Amino acid sequence: MFWGRSKMLQHLDFTGKSALIMGASRGIGLATAKTLAAYGASVTLTARSYESVAAAAGDITAGGGRAWAQVCDVSQYTSVQSAVAACLATTGKIDFLINNAGVIEPLSHLIESDPVEWTQAADINFKGVYYCMRAALPHMREDGGGIVVNISSGAANSALVGWSHYCSTKAAAKKLTEVAHKELRQHNIRVVGLSPGTVATDFMAKIRDSKINAVSDLDWSNHIPPHWAAEAVAFLCGDGGEAFAGTDFSIKTDEGRKLVGLPINRSS
Ligand code: NAP
Repeated sequence: MFWGRSKMLQHLDFTGKSALIMGASRGIGLATAKTLAAYGASVTLTARSYESVAAAAGDITAGGGRAWAQVCDVSQYTSVQSAVAACLATTGKIDFLINNAGVIEPLSHLIESDPVEWTQAADINFKGVYYCMRAALPHMREDGGGIVVNISSGAANSALVGWSHYCSTKAAAKKLTEVAHKELRQHNIRVVGLSPGTVATDFMAKIRDSKINAVSDLDWSNHIPPHWAAEAVAFLCGDGGEAFAGTDFSIKTDEGRKLVGLPINRSS
């Protein structure tokens, strides 16, 4: 369900802004689309299945927001180019690019992993981030600037058993954030990562069920709801995000949560 501005945590006004959200059919991406729309942005939701994002865009529109749906597989450059073109055709520009699409499969030890699935994870989690930036950033630069939020992970800085694909692709994507920041800052483009901590989504349910490492054993109540991560994305798209350009902003810290207006204790 789309929620109205009165329930939002921050005082942000994204009226007139256009956001392209990759992987918006569920979880953090869907919550981000709803949140940015509630702050006034026009949102283009993308995922591999058109039906899922069309339903979500319909909910946002029914709630008074401005939303469009577009099919996109971020592991295919031509698909990404089409999504960027469609967003530009409907909203005229891209102010916010949210690189959220990601997968946790294959959950297996490196020597048992399926090379095809492993490579697919790299195509989505790493190359997909490059493809989306490569396709959208020339337009953003031409239009005077914008903001890219790459959804990162603590795994970018860790080595976790059974997650060779995930740790390495998130580390690579983090490096893309840093380099893109250096190259594009002079063009009024903010590139920033968000490390949300653990979030209660389908993705996390797969981790729990895999029993592959200590993250699987975390109590479900430790995971934050997706709309907290979405509020952090909104924070990074606002003026407050400027101080974190080129870094991975974390809402695992008390400081990060305070800045976004989130409760410090999960249970509060
Ligand atoms: P999720 O609920 O599984 O949602 C993943 C989204 O990515 C879906 O909308 C999915 O859409 C989309 N997606 C997957 N492959 C895609 C592809 N090839 N092309 C386009 N879209 C694709 O996962 P989530 O927990 O919300 O995670 C979102 C992001 O946060 C990921 O980058 C993940 O690494 C990161 N993250 C999550 C956690 C956590 O605890 N959940 C923690 C840290 C970071 P379709 O399948 O419909 O195409």
